[in-house]
This record gives sequence, C-alpha cells and structure tokens, in this order.
Amino acid sequence: MPDKTMEKLVSLAKRRGFVFQSSEIYGGLGSVWDYGPLGVELKKNIKERWWRSMVHEREDIEGLDAAILMHPKVWEASGHVAGFTDPLVDCKHCKNRFRADDPKIKGTPGQPDAQCPTCGMKGTLTAPRMFNLMFKTFMGPVEEDAAVIFMRPETAQGIYVNYLNVLQSSRQKVPFGIAQIGKAFRNEITPGNFVFRTREFEQMEMQFFVKPGSDGEWFEFWRAERLKWVQDLGIRQEKLRWHQHGKGELAHYAKDAYDIEYEFPFGWNEFEGIHNRGDFDLSRHQEYSGKKLDYLDTTTNTRFVPNVVETSAGADRTTLVVLCDAYREEAVKNEDGADKEELRVVLKLKPELAPIKAAVFPLVNKDGMPDVARRVYDDLRKRFNVFYDDGGSIGRRYRRQDEAGTPFGITIDGQTSQDQTVTVRDRDTLKQIRVASAKLVDYLKEQLTG
Ligand code: ATP
Repeated sequence: MPDKTMEKLVSLAKRRGFVFQSSEIYGGLGSVWDYGPLGVELKKNIKERWWRSMVHEREDIEGLDAAILMHPKVWEASGHVAGFTDPLVDCKHCKNRFRADDPKIKGTPGQPDAQCPTCGMKGTLTAPRMFNLMFKTFMGPVEEDAAVIFMRPETAQGIYVNYLNVLQSSRQKVPFGIAQIGKAFRNEITPGNFVFRTREFEQMEMQFFVKPGSDGEWFEFWRAERLKWVQDLGIRQEKLRWHQHGKGELAHYAKDAYDIEYEFPFGWNEFEGIHNRGDFDLSRHQEYSGKKLDYLDTTTNTRFVPNVVETSAGADRTTLVVLCDAYREEAVKNEDGADKEELRVVLKLKPELAPIKAAVFPLVNKDGMPDVARRVYDDLRKRFNVFYDDGGSIGRRYRRQDEAGTPFGITIDGQTSQDQTVTVRDRDTLKQIRVASAKLVDYLKEQLTG
C-alpha cells in the first residue's frame, strides 16, 4: 500500500496552521512554503534550542548574522560559480525538466532511445546541460552582467568572510567556532517532499576553526555532539543513522563527511551534515581577496591557515524530521464519556518544542467557568504560549490540541469553584490529574524543562 503519511502530514500542517504553500491564492509558488502560527513557533523553538546549545552554552563559539547578498567574488572563491551545477535534461515534447541522473529516465538523454518519464515520448530528451543552482539578481539600477549578484545558496560563506572580524573582535583563539542561522536559496531542479527540498530555506551552520592536524579529532567530537543534540529533540533512535560520504560523493575539497539521516515516510535522507573541509575555504578566500587569513599561534609562534570542521543543518528539514517523528494515529477512548473507541491524530512533540504549551478550556460556557478559565489563561500566558478554546465538546477540543501537539489540556469544571483545582490532561497518556489553580505555573514549569 502506498504510504500516505506525507499527504496526511501536509494536510494536517495546513489545517492546523503549521505550513501553507506560498502564494496559495495565486495557485502557489513551486516548492516555496510559508510557516503559519503554529509552524513559526515550532521552527523558532528548534532554532532557539540550536542557538542555545551551539552559542550560549559554549565559550568557544560566537554568533553571527551575515547578509544574504554578498560580493560576487565570494561565489567564485567558494567554487559555487564554477561547481554549483547540476546536469539537466529537458523534454522537447512536454517541456518538463529533469535531473540527468533521474532514475525514472530510461535510456540515455540526448539519444533516440531515451524516454521521458512524464509524457512517455522517446527521443525527446535533450542532452544534459549544466544548470547553476544559484538565484541571480541585479544590484543597482542597471540590469547588466556587471551588476549580477547572487542570493546566497548557503550561510557558510558569510562566516568565512567574517572569520577575521570575529576573531579580532571577540578575542577568541583557535580552536573556536562561528555559528549562524539564516536563509539560503537554491534554484533546485527537483524540489519536493514538502519542506524537505525547497528553493528558499533556512540553515543552521557552525564553522569550527582548528589547527591543522587536530581536525580529525574535532570532526569526531562534533559528530558526537550533533547526534546527541538531534537525539535530544526526542527523535526515535531507530529512525536515525549515519551515512559516510563515499569517494564519489565527497566534495572535492572535503577530507571526510558524514550525514545524519532520518527515515522519512519517503525513505532515508540527510537532514544534517558534518564535514571536515580542510583549509579549502580560508585558503581560497585568502587567494581571491588578497587578504591574509592565516592565524598566528602565539604559544608556538607559528602561522597556519585554520582547518574547518562544519556542522550544517537545515532548520526546515529538521522541523520536518520533528513533525514526521511526532505524527501518530492511535485508537483511544472517547473523551466525551461515550463508551467507544475512536481514532485520533496526535503530534507527540517533545513538550519543549510544542508550539502551544497548554490549552485552557471552560468545561461548559456557564456557571462562572468561562470567567475562571479566562483568569487562568491570562495568568499562564505571561509565561507560556497558551491557547484558549471554548468551542465544541471537550473531547473535540482535546482532539484539536492533539493535532497541534499541545502537551497539556487544562479544564475548568464544576469542582473548580469548590476547591480551586483544575483538571490537567496529558496529551500522550490521556490521564487526568487535579492541580490547584494557584500551582499551575509551577506545575507547567516543571513539566516543560528537561
Ligand atoms: P541535498 O543533497 O539533500 O540537496 P546537500 O548535501 O546539498 O543536500 P548541504 O549543502 O550540505 O546539503 O546543506 C546542508 C543542509 O541544508 C542539508 O542537510 C539540509 O538540511 C539543508 N538543505 C540543503 N538544501 C536544501 C533545500 N533545497 N531545502 C531545504 N533544506 C536544504
């Protein structure tokens, strides 16, 4: 049976306000997505968690926010102008475009035997042509070749070109790192699978500058650290694995590279890479800019161009991993008191990542319950992102929050006016306990850390 999980996830994402297609009312823009009210919170929680662990919790890493637009020579130095290309073929009949290595193509593109995977015609596929993945635009009023600049296809180059600025202003010493979260753009030929491969996306990258010879050790260190971080998002262990780049896959400058892969509903795929890049990046920028980027090690009085160990993650892809891993369908008891089971969709997000931490419900809209519920809601929202809902049966309200991944449901009921306690319902176990309303803040604080 075909796996429908992605379809269901895309539909849930839209229904609950996680992710919408860009410019949807105009028919959408291919492989560009917008994050709705819940999606922006989820992605922000992931980015903040990354920033905390990579920048705030480490003495040896500094943060940076470089501009998207950079000097065009950056992309010559980085190799993107010459090398950031994919071979492409077009079908002259149906006008569709494919990667030349698309496994759906039968035969050799450019030859009469080649068959278009979309329209099925033979001999209509062009020979492969190189296609640069960088988006181009013009700087200034004149649209001429000299004014061409690129939208950055990765955040890393903003770090390399600021290496010296950060080193000098922060008084760090090698080994040290620079971390950045920001948008990147790639005119991908075969985007797809929801936010897995998009044309505009966000990266969370960290470049760690080390003394040549110590790179192997630091590479292993960062591999272990990054896997720990990913596991700490609550991702199921059996859905994670390492993939080491073979000789054919390694970028020409890379000494070693590993991807962390997740088993998505559409198969195992990378969502973060850890790369040992040698001294390629700083050496190239030194050569192209004419500025010295070597480092004086004052303890040994020697100069060297630092090697770089990079950790490169996609914020959108990591968000997709978190969503896919949290998505469950389960048979549970009816929560409106009927003696029957029903199917529920629930996002079992780690509470710290959940967009909404708790939802507050008056059991019924009478007997003073809405007033008390509002007071509880107003009190909680000073500290947490909470949600108020008084529409529909309590069971229906719980189900809506299950789909949003909200870990706690707080219900103000008949007993509240007698003993000032409320019901707290756990998203995963459906168990309900009574908590004094005055103790709710402490209770949630305790549940939401760890
Ligand atoms: P792929 O082979 O999947 O295109 P890549 O090897 O080119 O990825 P890198 O250049 O190493 O990816 O980028 C690092 C990370 O940035 C990836 O692991 C991924 O999480 C994210 N990323 C790269 N391209 C995209 C994209 N088009 N859409 C969303 N995320 C992306």
